[in-house]
Amino acid sequence: MVDVTDQLAAPAAPAPEADQGTAARVPATDVGTGVVEVDLDAVASNVAALAARTRTPVLAVVKADAYGHGLVPVARAAVAGGATWLGVAQLDEALRLRDAGVDEPLLTWLLLPDARLLAEALRRQVTIGVSDPSHVEALLEAARATGQVADVHVKVDTGLNRNGVRVEDLPPLAAALAAAERDGLVAVSGVFSHLAWADAPDHPTIDAQAEAFTEAVEVLRAAGLRPTWRHLANSAATLTRADLHLDLVRPGLAVYGLSPVPDLAGPGEWGLRPALTLRSRLALTKAVRAGEGVSYGHVWTAPHDTVVGLVPLGYADGVPRAATGRAQVWVGGRRAPVVGRVCMDQVVVDLGPGAHEAVGDDVVLLGPGDRGEPTAQEWAEWAGTISYEVVARLGSRLPRRHVGTGQVLLAEEPA
Ligand SMILES: *Cc1c(COP(=O)(O)O)cnc(C)c1O
Repeated sequence: MVDVTDQLAAPAAPAPEADQGTAARVPATDVGTGVVEVDLDAVASNVAALAARTRTPVLAVVKADAYGHGLVPVARAAVAGGATWLGVAQLDEALRLRDAGVDEPLLTWLLLPDARLLAEALRRQVTIGVSDPSHVEALLEAARATGQVADVHVKVDTGLNRNGVRVEDLPPLAAALAAAERDGLVAVSGVFSHLAWADAPDHPTIDAQAEAFTEAVEVLRAAGLRPTWRHLANSAATLTRADLHLDLVRPGLAVYGLSPVPDLAGPGEWGLRPALTLRSRLALTKAVRAGEGVSYGHVWTAPHDTVVGLVPLGYADGVPRAATGRAQVWVGGRRAPVVGRVCMDQVVVDLGPGAHEAVGDDVVLLGPGDRGEPTAQEWAEWAGTISYEVVARLGSRLPRRHVGTGQVLLAEEPA
């Protein structure tokens, strides 16, 4: 019997350096207290499945550490699956991809007008999503400083009322960009917007946003700009609104094999496979008597004598505390309920009277679901959130272990 207490006391396996981009830095058998295992073949084939649904190129959104899946290896797998563009929210994420040698067209769209950082982005051939006149000023400074032409996609707010320039405010921005283009400082190659209700494919705001988008393209053209990349579709619209694919689709969640429209269909129905599995092991088992309370506040009391197991992951690792009282894990070939409050570093599960599990036994908190383990979507429902948040919040102290080749697996050729 392996004494796992030593392993638990030992420092957690080091997280693979994202910049190395190598797959298996965490040995395949070493789960430690917990590991996020990411199937790169699933990522590649999800992108291939998305690409097969559209005639336009695919931009894979890999912001937020690839929705918690690990930026660089996932970006590479997405490219292997057919993505010809990558997208990130923050400039810093874009620079990390470039540092790792990822040289595909790369768009970033959530920026502050920091000319020094933008200069770095221009040197590294990052396409800039511009949504404010202050961005243009900083970009011009960066373009002059570097001698690089700034490649720009204009980000238009067509009704989300979040990031982007409102259509009514677009004419002066378009004029400034057109002047800068004539001066050889910028090239406006694209225009894009983001939907508010993409997860409800028939929602009237979608058509209204599409119309506002058409109007925005007209404003740019009237200013003399000729953006060739028009894009509007996130995962949900990529799957459900082929009429909005335009020149490029921008899926994020679907790349990771999760359904952006869980009320309509699960991943399998879209030909997607969840890429992420969150593994841990039992750190302890113990008998609890009927009537005894478990975990903070004793919000759960054992209804009868039972055996509980301790799983050494908690809300600091991204296990949602809000899932207290509803969550389950996969252990010993069955689901066991999480009982009592989810704590910072640990949760307790009820293994049932006479349970035979032991310290070190495998626990799967979430995964693709095909062996019976809970899915990210189920955790989302237990916690009152969306699957995006479940995966994106998995903690930085959990190592990411990338498995698979990151290629689209083709049927074997006859010998
Ligand atoms: C996050 C994001 C996406 C991807 O959205 P999903 O719903 O994950 O497909 C696309 N475009 C923009 C601008 C985003 O911020």
